[in-house]
Amino acid sequence: MGLRFFNTLSRSVQAFVPLDASSKTVGMYCCGPTVYDFAHIGNWRTFVFADLVRRHLTFHGYAVKHVMNITDVEDKIIRRVRETRSSLREFTAQYEAAFFKDLRTLGCLEPHAKPRATEHIADIIALIEQLVARGIAYQAGDGSVYFSIEKYQGCGHHYGRLQKLDFAAMRTTERVATDEYDKEAVADFALWKAYVPDDGTVAWDSPWGKGRPGWHIECSAMSMKILGASFDLHLGGEDLKFPHHEDEIAQSEGATGRPFAKYWLHGAHLLVEGRKMSKSLGNFFTLPDLLARGFTGRDVRFLLLSAHYRETFNFTLEGLAGARTSLARIDECVGKLRDLADGAPGCAAPDVTGSDAWLDAFTGALDNDFNVAAAWGEIFKWITVTNKAIAERALSASQAATQLAAWKRANSVLGIGTAITTVAPAEIQALLAARQAARAARDFKRSDAIRDELKTRGWMIEDSPKGAKLKKIP
Ligand SMILES: [Zn+2]
Repeated sequence: MGLRFFNTLSRSVQAFVPLDASSKTVGMYCCGPTVYDFAHIGNWRTFVFADLVRRHLTFHGYAVKHVMNITDVEDKIIRRVRETRSSLREFTAQYEAAFFKDLRTLGCLEPHAKPRATEHIADIIALIEQLVARGIAYQAGDGSVYFSIEKYQGCGHHYGRLQKLDFAAMRTTERVATDEYDKEAVADFALWKAYVPDDGTVAWDSPWGKGRPGWHIECSAMSMKILGASFDLHLGGEDLKFPHHEDEIAQSEGATGRPFAKYWLHGAHLLVEGRKMSKSLGNFFTLPDLLARGFTGRDVRFLLLSAHYRETFNFTLEGLAGARTSLARIDECVGKLRDLADGAPGCAAPDVTGSDAWLDAFTGALDNDFNVAAAWGEIFKWITVTNKAIAERALSASQAATQLAAWKRANSVLGIGTAITTVAPAEIQALLAARQAARAARDFKRSDAIRDELKTRGWMIEDSPKGAKLKKIP
């Protein structure tokens, strides 16, 4: 059947046919983080899903060019820069670094291009100039440049492609200056915002005077600059559908007169412990929050990838514990396969030419609108069958090597890697023994000092009912 998925633009499941079908290249743009705070688990659902899409396309032999922007100038950022009395770059750098650290911890592949809005101001201005030249954008009395929805529609375009909009209720003669606004406030939106004293040191020169770009135009400028006026795939969370993505389409197609992204994929929301995430409810998790509770990036990735991307997902700590158990089942089976394959005399060569029925079923599930739940179902069926065959000694070394190779193919899409077990060197083990002895002698000062010494050497002590264990600090 081949890969097919729900395209928000056509509101239907469509076969995936890249714009340039012969070259097998795919341009993929994913709206990146707004670096004014730490990313939360709801944000991560979208980024992990984008990683799955990229990996699955790569599995199918496409050369994917994955672009993810960094929104490093926007209303919320400017407010925080003012509040913290820092420079823009100083302020955003810390959150950008934290974002990429988390991205790696979650096993996501680094995007090929990570453009920062502040480094593309000239491209943004050029795009706005194109819109002004076509009569679709205008400078208003407040000095800012706005996108005219009326003029855009007058040029034969349709505003409201991703989401049905109630035009009767729209006040197209009004304007919105803020980056975020809701459906009821549909009106001309800001492309270039004239400088106001609250902007502090955040400003650039432009043909319309000192100011800064609006959020929506940043994505249009950077995606088209790197991927061209038309590209294959645009991804983001469903909360970005309107106004952000709708505005991206309008700005891009209004300026170039050419179709913007061919397919739009939107990931659904996430609930935490059955409720909307909020700091006041105590269910607002960042990745470091979850790592501090003893979970790993793999556990979190597994859980985020357990449900279909278009369904609202309930993220729970109980689910995370379940993810850990499921991963242990996979690791155990893969470990046994590795032992079997390694044990073969002369090292068994895997027979990768023969197609594995389970791998075909796994691929088929993902081809069907990224049905990841069904794909995991195939993995766990395979594990049951494999464990049984190993227990019955019915699997030869060469068959084990073949199965291992098939698993690696599947895991190139799932991206859960392999469990890392690091054995502590002798001097570290000796320190642990000394710490246990100090504790037994109730010399807590010394036991704490040894614990700190281990920490500086990169090892953590985990006390459990079965005794103390050493864990390498990642
Ligand atoms: Zn965007």
